[in-house]
Amino acid sequence: MLRVTEIFRSIQGESTHAGRPCTFVRLTGCPMRCVWCDSEYTFSGGEYISIENVMDQVRAFGCDLVEVTGGEPLAQREALALIERLCSANYEVLVETGGYFSTELVDPRAKIILDVKCPHSGEEGRNHWPILERLRSDRDEVKFVIADREDWDYARTIIERYELTKRARILISPAWGTIDLKDLAEWVSSSGIDVRMQLQLHKYIWGPEARGV
Ligand code: SF4
Repeated sequence: MLRVTEIFRSIQGESTHAGRPCTFVRLTGCPMRCVWCDSEYTFSGGEYISIENVMDQVRAFGCDLVEVTGGEPLAQREALALIERLCSANYEVLVETGGYFSTELVDPRAKIILDVKCPHSGEEGRNHWPILERLRSDRDEVKFVIADREDWDYARTIIERYELTKRARILISPAWGTIDLKDLAEWVSSSGIDVRMQLQLHKYIWGPEARGV
């Protein structure tokens, strides 16, 4: 059984897959408390449903792309079995994870989108650095959510220290409502680093508070 907050079809709003039709399986619960978290509603509640039930709902939505997200999906051990089932059913599977749990046991066919927590998140101290060793440059992505200049400088330091541009695609995402997008665009464009600034497409379409879209 998995504790699930919602399953819905939308478009992928972030990552290099942005704009694609996607079914989201949003699992309940997260041990972290990022100050800018936009999915606090996943911290509690949810409904226990079987993997078979999740597979049925995913199948009904008819998207080839499926994202397993949260909350923190890897906080539930059963998520590993769900990811394996989805991969075996030939879905293209994205796993969005907060960088706290090891990805070692995640089905290697899934694509990891890994958050590195910057100082402004309040959870910088929980980054689990060995995860970066497991990244695969042909499929995985690393996301930095940037709320201010200190976060951007931190992201640059981590990218250089771990040579992340050789290990994964790098996403630079503004924390909603915290930073002038033009400032971030200038920092990114003048950095000379091979990163991708991205906006949260779904929030521009449906608004920052919308759920299940
Ligand atoms: S890891 Fe994700 S779900 Fe958990 S508090 Fe941070 S932003 Fe929210």
